[in-house]
Amino acid sequence: MTTTATFPVTVGSNTINVNVDGVTTLESLCEKIAPFETLLTAPSKCSACDSGNLLPVHRKAGPKGEFDFYEVLCVGCGAKLKIHQKKAGGTYIKREETFEKFTPKEGTADTGTIELDGE
Ligand SMILES: [Zn+2]
Repeated sequence: MTTTATFPVTVGSNTINVNVDGVTTLESLCEKIAPFETLLTAPSKCSACDSGNLLPVHRKAGPKGEFDFYEVLCVGCGAKLKIHQKKAGGTYIKREETFEKFTPKEGTADTGTIELDGE
């Protein structure tokens, strides 16, 4: 029997409910929720303003939009924490890294505009 499980992913004080299909065993549940480990172990508060109002965000950059950047956005002050991508797949947050506010470089078109993943 195939089951759909609703799994709450808490980022700061916000909870996003993720539906995972194909959950039949504990092993399959662990495999399905493993990609969310980075968010589940992310800091619970912004290191810049102490807000817990955090959201995972995605933006594209580069001349053809070929680069994907994933970050944890502080809705309170706009600072972001980088989510790094492993070459072999998967993501991680560096323990020593802190939330940083975006400062556009002179002469670049990058406005730091973000789009929220999902609806
Ligand atoms: Zn903040």
